[in-house]
Amino acid sequence: MSRFWTKKITELDPYVPGEQPQDKQYIKLNTNESPYSPSPKALTAMSEAVSESLRLYPDPNCMTLKNALAKQYHFDAKQVFVGNGSDEVLALAFMGYFAGGKPLAFADITYSFYKVYANLYDIEPALIPLTDSFDIDPNDYQNLDVSGVVVTNPNAPTGKALPLSDIEKVLQANPDVVVLVDEAYVDFGAESATNLVNQYPNLLVVQTFSKSRALAGIRVGYAFGHPDLIEGLERLKNSFNSYPIDRIALAGATAAVEDQDYLAEICSKTIATREWASTELTKLGFNILKSATNFVFVTHPEKDAEAIYLKLKEEGILVRYFGKKPRIGKYLRITIGTDAEMTALVDALKVL
Ligand code: PMP
Repeated sequence: MSRFWTKKITELDPYVPGEQPQDKQYIKLNTNESPYSPSPKALTAMSEAVSESLRLYPDPNCMTLKNALAKQYHFDAKQVFVGNGSDEVLALAFMGYFAGGKPLAFADITYSFYKVYANLYDIEPALIPLTDSFDIDPNDYQNLDVSGVVVTNPNAPTGKALPLSDIEKVLQANPDVVVLVDEAYVDFGAESATNLVNQYPNLLVVQTFSKSRALAGIRVGYAFGHPDLIEGLERLKNSFNSYPIDRIALAGATAAVEDQDYLAEICSKTIATREWASTELTKLGFNILKSATNFVFVTHPEKDAEAIYLKLKEEGILVRYFGKKPRIGKYLRITIGTDAEMTALVDALKVL
């Protein structure tokens, strides 16, 4: 608290990221990072960028990266926006498309940063409860009187995916506002709404390099949408920070997009490990939601989630416990690590 703080700062309720403790080496299964290293081609491109021209500003328009994304996903570069992590893309979209009007619709259980941005921009959340089985029901997204809709697919922290036909129902019911589909985890098993971008001028699809491409450390996210929606985001970005993507990140992300084989390889490894780990956790009595992501959301009918979290931490394994929040206080979110890491997790849970 400071007497120099404005009312705005005082009233903020900042996002709290998953813990990144420095006291010892943990098996980190708490922030949905990839356990694999990024594409070797991305690593080479980044070291070349370091030895080349860091004295110069990067390209403010990120054209090499936009062109690579446009080519890979069959868009025009004018349909691509790039930001400093998908968090920044979300922040700009909230400011540009949802602020200053009606409430914003999103699920009661979803990525907790949406509430933080809503608070930052004085947007009232219109929370739409997930069903009892933790699903998004598109019927709950009809006849809304809102400034926009955010759908997370697959959802976090539940891990559950929606079919594209359900996303389309949400789009058709809300043609006059932006529908933002956050696809941070889509590469691990959900259908992407990128195929709908050319049909729906109100659709913004947001993805990230942080999960499936194992590049959380360089902070790059992107969005696909109608050129007018993208231009709006560019205007905002250029009114805030012209160079959010540095030269190293640009080089690494561009090379990573061009290495689709590596993306496919590490995603299929994660999916195989997820299925194995889900079977093992089921044998230990856990209930596991069907995951289309690089994490599983689990609960145990007899064991206390917080106690499991604390015990695992003592054993050097970090998982995400969200505290005693409504509806999810009995759940843990566990990121899928390597086979060895997940074996260590299962072994530790066996003796709990
Ligand atoms: N959306 C969702 C649903 C997420 O879980 C995350 C990761 N915390 C993000 C967006 C942001 O990812 P990043 O900023 O690393 O791209």
